Amino acid sequence: MLELNDPVWSRLTTAYGDGEEAARLLCRLVQAAEDAELRQELFELLLHQGTIYTTTLAAMPYLAEMAERTEDTETLADLYIVCGWMESGREQGADRLNIASSGEFRRERQPKLPDEAIASIAEGYRTGLERLSRLHERAAGLALKGIEQSSDEASIVIRESDENENPEAVYLLAAWAAYAGEIEAARLLFRFPEGDEYSGACPSCQADWYVWPKEDEAGILVVYTDDPVTVQKENRASATVQATAATALRTELQTLAREARRIGARRLAAAIPSLDGQAICPECGAEVSVWEALVG
Ligand SMILES: [Zn+2]
Repeated sequence: MLELNDPVWSRLTTAYGDGEEAARLLCRLVQAAEDAELRQELFELLLHQGTIYTTTLAAMPYLAEMAERTEDTETLADLYIVCGWMESGREQGADRLNIASSGEFRRERQPKLPDEAIASIAEGYRTGLERLSRLHERAAGLALKGIEQSSDEASIVIRESDENENPEAVYLLAAWAAYAGEIEAARLLFRFPEGDEYSGACPSCQADWYVWPKEDEAGILVVYTDDPVTVQKENRASATVQATAATALRTELQTLAREARRIGARRLAAAIPSLDGQAICPECGAEVSVWEALVG
């Protein structure tokens, strides 16, 4: 990994300039990871509207170290989630695991770096991510705290009073998916942490899709091609999503559904069979995959 006093930091980029300020903030945070304001100050340099920078890659092993060392669950969950968010924003080269090929190194604003600096940043990033991925159980403890645990998975039923989503749990799942390499699922969850009002486009005709839960029916999703916020109910063309059977879900969504139930993202757990379902596009009439419409 890149040492914090390495002059290369000044040749890295952030959302707002070079990497020196971030290296200074990292120096301070190593002793004070629980300082939420200071963390926020650093995150603003490293992650901007889903985009990350070479400084972000270099910072990852330090963020992993803080997450491992802190005894404060909120600090741990914050670091775990934000670092997963960073990974979901990385511009992957042909091989996702080859960090040195990431697009951040090749941007116009990024001066060309010596090969050994790239190699050391890439190695630090890779091991940092690995260390963070091992903290899932501890980070999930925060979401689990508020849930009545049951040994029988199936007994966690969605009741009307439970319908509101637990966005903290969804963010944890999003990060968990990112560490597991399920980048499409991670991006979708980071975009829609409330578990409703998804948006995408028809894979067949490219019409905008608004995928909303059916009123009062947890887990049932409806596709609109007009924004339900601006177009009156009686004038909206719509199609109810045909959910996929739980056993026929694509593997990554089966795993996600299980973990969502376990850590209490109930609305998401109920919606996953529909997220992987089929719907007739109200615009072109083609029967298409909802998942493709949302992540494509
Ligand atoms: Zn269509």
